[in-house]
Amino acid sequence: MKTGIVDSPASLEHRLPDGHPEHAGRYSAVREALETVPVSEWLTAEQAPVEALARFHTVEHVDRVLSACAEAGEGEWVALDADTLVCGLSARAALSGVGGALMAVDRTVEDGEGAWFVLARPPGHHAEPDRAMGFCLFNQIALAAKHALDVHGLPSVTIVDIDVHHGNGTQCLAETDERVTFISLHQAPLYPGTGNAGETGLNGNIVNIPLPEGTGSADWRRAFEAEALPALRRAKPALVLVSAGFDAHRNDPLAGFALDENDYAWVAGQLAGIAREFAFSRLVSVLEGGYDCPALARSACAFVQALGEA
Ligand SMILES: [Zn+2]
Repeated sequence: MKTGIVDSPASLEHRLPDGHPEHAGRYSAVREALETVPVSEWLTAEQAPVEALARFHTVEHVDRVLSACAEAGEGEWVALDADTLVCGLSARAALSGVGGALMAVDRTVEDGEGAWFVLARPPGHHAEPDRAMGFCLFNQIALAAKHALDVHGLPSVTIVDIDVHHGNGTQCLAETDERVTFISLHQAPLYPGTGNAGETGLNGNIVNIPLPEGTGSADWRRAFEAEALPALRRAKPALVLVSAGFDAHRNDPLAGFALDENDYAWVAGQLAGIAREFAFSRLVSVLEGGYDCPALARSACAFVQALGEA
């Protein structure tokens, strides 16, 4: 597939206290690795206009995040929950991440094809319409979905969340919008505690695939083939969106799955196949978690490379 990167260098401006797992070095590690992958285009993300956030978030939530950033001084932080903090420049990083996701949707829809990877932090899939949580401020993938549906007029999108944590924020979107199918493979029990198989949304548009600690390549791939692929085929998405977290890697310190970079290459091939079959080869992936930098970099690299070879 034709592949491109939308890069958000403003990711570096979201600085967190020493020892926080979601640190700026994650961005640098992935960026350095992706520079070795041949892609057709490498774009720089622009900040999303604040109005665009209202397609998923409440005005109060957006104000709360932006005010907290304004309140945080140089080298200081304001906490939005126990592990979600902002510094003075976090708003620029978060708005640029959203802007990158919207830009990727614009390009694949306008070009009529293309697999884009949005390199940005902080991640977004835990952010709910009215709440920042789990390191996430604004939900990039949910906003990308709304942009595709409401601005470009696509009839349907499917979001596949391969982060090891359940994308509770993104699920909120599917709970209220039947045009969205949300499919998540995640460790359970684990933060944030949502994502039971019994949460099925509107006419089954939510497919949660909880898997136990210790899940490795064979079981994860089997679950993807048995549950995610049939759900994708049923949904027939006009655009495939991917919450591309790489914290299901065996080296990740925050979770207990045992995948490796070959699994991310494999799943990229599966997702590209669905995008080709139903969505005119239109696919947008947004970086979510992944907290062991070498494993994160190798995994993101393998994922993007496999999209290009698919
Ligand atoms: Zn995660």
